[in-house]
Amino acid sequence: MARRKKIYEGKAKILYEGPEPGTLIQYFKDDAAGQAAAPAATRTGPAGGQQGDGRGVLNNRLSEFFMNGLNAIGVPTHFIRRINMREQLVRMAEIIPLMVVVRNYAAGDLSNRLGIPEGTALPRPIVEFYFKDDKLGDPLVTEEHIIAFGWASQQDMDDMIALALRVNDFLSGVMLGVGIRLADFRIEVGRIWEGDYMRLIVADEISPDSCRLWDMRAAEIPDRDGNIREPGPLADVYTELARRLGVLPSNVTHATKPSLIN
Ligand code: ADP
Ligand code: MG
Repeated sequence: MARRKKIYEGKAKILYEGPEPGTLIQYFKDDAAGQAAAPAATRTGPAGGQQGDGRGVLNNRLSEFFMNGLNAIGVPTHFIRRINMREQLVRMAEIIPLMVVVRNYAAGDLSNRLGIPEGTALPRPIVEFYFKDDKLGDPLVTEEHIIAFGWASQQDMDDMIALALRVNDFLSGVMLGVGIRLADFRIEVGRIWEGDYMRLIVADEISPDSCRLWDMRAAEIPDRDGNIREPGPLADVYTELARRLGVLPSNVTHATKPSLIN
């Protein structure tokens, strides 16, 4: 392949210039060490991982699977097509510097901040915004901050919430179908222009690194005393999720075991 221009290297992915204007290639690395450094609030996925454990390959596949599904039901995403094991072609977007988190069950930072026991079903999905800044530890921000600092307009806020809730319904349903509870997840949203018309799309990735997943199947099996357990973290989350969804590439045999979520 011809030399490509590297645009950005983050914790989980490398961005290269795409073949056509307005496109990018996302290369999925195995190393997502930065995940572990992120605060619990926004580290909704498992931490750890080393180069060579196949996580990037699985995340590329899984993100393709979810983004394709969203595109198919009319939720716009940046995903165009997968190129190979580790790369996918996406539409270049202007990323809004926020992480949009949707929570269905209390966990992590929400439990810690508000003293709600982990695993409590929330009365309705709760949408939160975190300012995407590693150095600041991705702090929670309110609509006041977002609008005052010009990160997004009131209209964008409404659109982001609507988008995030549609993603939540889709993802929750897909997960439920394979015995997994989607406790919470985060997305990044970007702007794209079509002529003078701007719209918001789901960008970045949807993978176990951005979702907190609890296994409902394991929870159905009573323990020695006959008690039914609460759903807990999905073990070997990359491989197991890919296997249950039927997207496990045959030539990847191992992905890392995640460490427990905070
Ligand atoms: P980070 O360490 O900043 O989270 P990643 O390793 O996840 O970075 O690399 C992905 C980067 O690419 C992120 O900064 C993300 O905001 C950005 N990004 C994701 N999708 C798009 C897109 N469609 N257009 C432009 N930038 C994107
Ligand atoms: Mg990232």
